[in-house]
Amino acid sequence: MVIPDSFLQELSERNDIVDVVGGYVHLTKKSGANLFGLCPFHSEKTPSFSVNPDMQIYHCFGCGKGGDVINFIREMENLSFPEAVEFLARRAGMEMPTDGDGDLRQRRDRLLALNRAAARFFHQALIQPAGQPGRDYVARRGISPALVRRFGLGYAADNFYSLTNAMRAQGYTEAELVEAGLANANRGGKGVHDIFRDRLMFPVIDVRGNVIAFSGRILGDGEPKYLNTRDTPVFSKSRNLFGLNLAKKSKSGYLLLAEGNIDVVSLHQAGFDSAVASLGTSLTPEQARLMSRYTGEIILAYDNDAAGQKASARAIGILEKLDLKVRVLRLEGAKDPDEFIQARGSGAFRQLLEGSANHVEFLLDGVARGRDLSVDAEKAAYLREAAGIVAALPSPVEREVYAMRLSEQTGVAKSVVLEEVRRLRRRQAKGAETRRDREAVRSLRETVQPRDRALRYENERSAIAEEGVVRLMYLDPSLFGGAGRSIEPEEFSSPLLGRFYGVLRDKAAAGGSLSMASLSGSFTPEEIDHLTGILLKPEVLANGRQALADYIAVIREERQLQNAADDLLAFAAQKRKQLQAQR
Ligand SMILES: [Zn+2]
Repeated sequence: MVIPDSFLQELSERNDIVDVVGGYVHLTKKSGANLFGLCPFHSEKTPSFSVNPDMQIYHCFGCGKGGDVINFIREMENLSFPEAVEFLARRAGMEMPTDGDGDLRQRRDRLLALNRAAARFFHQALIQPAGQPGRDYVARRGISPALVRRFGLGYAADNFYSLTNAMRAQGYTEAELVEAGLANANRGGKGVHDIFRDRLMFPVIDVRGNVIAFSGRILGDGEPKYLNTRDTPVFSKSRNLFGLNLAKKSKSGYLLLAEGNIDVVSLHQAGFDSAVASLGTSLTPEQARLMSRYTGEIILAYDNDAAGQKASARAIGILEKLDLKVRVLRLEGAKDPDEFIQARGSGAFRQLLEGSANHVEFLLDGVARGRDLSVDAEKAAYLREAAGIVAALPSPVEREVYAMRLSEQTGVAKSVVLEEVRRLRRRQAKGAETRRDREAVRSLRETVQPRDRALRYENERSAIAEEGVVRLMYLDPSLFGGAGRSIEPEEFSSPLLGRFYGVLRDKAAAGGSLSMASLSGSFTPEEIDHLTGILLKPEVLANGRQALADYIAVIREERQLQNAADDLLAFAAQKRKQLQAQR
């Protein structure tokens, strides 16, 4: 589905980024062209989130997120690209465009209707005689018929054409089945076949009640255990949670985050109606933000194995950034919440919830694990590491409480533990200061490497100049052309910067707009984050011609140096070979 550039252009013009962002973030003007505010995407105390009204883009120098008004609404409202476009079109009172495939909204509605029809088909299949394997599995997991209905569970038969044939009979096309992520094209290109086969089907329902995707659990052993719908125009895996449509109505005051869908169903059945699961193994920042809209507290109920512990630690890091209160369940003697409830009942699970450790205890437990605290050396090592965790706590009361606990646990006097905590705290503060200084120096030198390691600059001096060329192409393409003022993307030392430059140049040459929206088809969200950072660095346009000539001179000089160095290396290698041959 392609939304015309001209529409995106008008959409951006009619939704001024300062107005739109201003609805979420308090922006103030300091100096220069940019407005600043506290970043809505990470927690911070001093504003590093900036908006540039002239370029209509934002960039956070803290977490690196950036983009235009459409990217902002995508992130903020947790929407897919077409949904964000719709959101802003509605805000500006614009009609959505129609293309060859029909109205955008109509097509989305059609995919949602197909998903709903598929959910009904799977559900029927579970009830009918042929659904015996699915029913056996449901019975084995102790799921009641009421819960099967509440979650709309279904069965995908062990057959390549069940769903495909049924949906085609209802008037859906093969292309629609593929677009919805329910079917794949056959090898050889003729016809399509079902993706979900011989699985228990969990419809994924968004908070508005739409069936947006499916998660299919394998009935026996085998991989993958859960197969999720790939991302489609109505579904983004990283931005949705299984069970949130039901859990959002819970009165419990917290959300219970489990690993598997089956845990969620079994928790709901046992009366814990705030259980959700991330679709896949690890929690994403987008999912965390989505949860933060419904609660201030998350209880992690991940599997009781090494992978689950690791996933918990990772999730704690993400959730803490959003200032969510986090507790972690200790599922002693069971591998997951489902098994725990089956074996010990819901009363025991409630007790577990009430006694669940906060994340500090969880982290301390992690440090203690595998250490024999009756051995002095191990005790000392434990204390040092644990004191580091306690030292990082912002509240003095909390530090006091946990220092007391460490003292009791190890038999080391509380005053000694507290002294160690204070020492580490001073060191941490100093470290933060040095980090801030280093950060400041780095941004002065304007050599901020891309966050994505795969995109790192090999040659920083050349990269600074290349960033300048990219910035000038974005700000004023008319500067290019003429003697000494043109350069080819292949001459860039950074392939990413070369690509930015090449795409911008082609768009400008074709007379197209250079908005972020028109670029989102050519670059990943991480690349767009980086691009907005480059564009927001200061550039004096009054001297644009001279600046461009200087940048190009630097790039070519660095390239020559690099070539000379390469020649030298090649020469040395050849010499070495000759010497070896002589010997
Ligand atoms: Zn940020």
